Amino acid sequence: MRNTQNIMGIKIDSVTMHQAVDIVKSFISKNKLHTIYTPNAEIIMDAQKDLYLRNILNEADMLVADGAGVVLASKILARKVPEKVSGIDLTRNSFSIALDRKIRYFFFGGKPGVAEEAAERLKSQYPGIEVVGCRNGYFSKDEDPDIVNQINSSEADILLVALGAPKQEKWIYEHKDILNVKICIGVGGSLDIYAGKASLAPDFFRNNGLEWLYRLYKEPWRFKRMLKLPKFVIYAVFARLGLYKIK
Ligand code: UDP
Repeated sequence: MRNTQNIMGIKIDSVTMHQAVDIVKSFISKNKLHTIYTPNAEIIMDAQKDLYLRNILNEADMLVADGAGVVLASKILARKVPEKVSGIDLTRNSFSIALDRKIRYFFFGGKPGVAEEAAERLKSQYPGIEVVGCRNGYFSKDEDPDIVNQINSSEADILLVALGAPKQEKWIYEHKDILNVKICIGVGGSLDIYAGKASLAPDFFRNNGLEWLYRLYKEPWRFKRMLKLPKFVIYAVFARLGLYKIK
């Protein structure tokens, strides 16, 4: 049974990183596709207005709290989620899941060459995984059937979709019924990080809920988009006081 907390209309799993990795492991052993998304404050704010996105998130098999903002909102709302479980850390930890065989991954997303570069770098670090296919994330709608074929014929267990939010969540939702994988995870810019094209915030920022500050410093053009974070916290306070109702 899932233990979820309603955070501004989104059912976030109340799990630690350790539990989330165990859930990934259990999904691999089942004969059905499972979806995992990693909403942060920005995505939850988008889902206030975008009801299609909200529905996609709420139909997922696991939603982890990607970011200190979501954990903070959970405290404000007295619906406690134990800790931040970011998409990048969840996938990285999942690379170490031990099975009696290699776990097959398909990397979909990023600029041309990024998925391949990520696969090459991860191969030596994680002997328990095999990257059985890669596809860049720049394509037109009529290429969708071809992409689905490529993924299905690779016989991957886990599909990482790195198209940025909410494009990746929508792509997974619209193709999940014809995909033959066990798990689809929306991972944002993770492949860029695995490929060494982008870097994570230093530990000080990551451990103190200040990742957004580092990102603002590195990518100041995201300023407008990032204003959703304080807005999200204010909405959570209003929701706690009964002054904001989720539609
Ligand atoms: N991307 C893609 N196809 C697109 C748009 C974006 O593959 O049509 C990739 C982009 O190259 C980057 C990732 O999606 O690797 C988005 O990263 P970002 O950090 O902006 O996403 P977020 O984690 O904020 O959702």
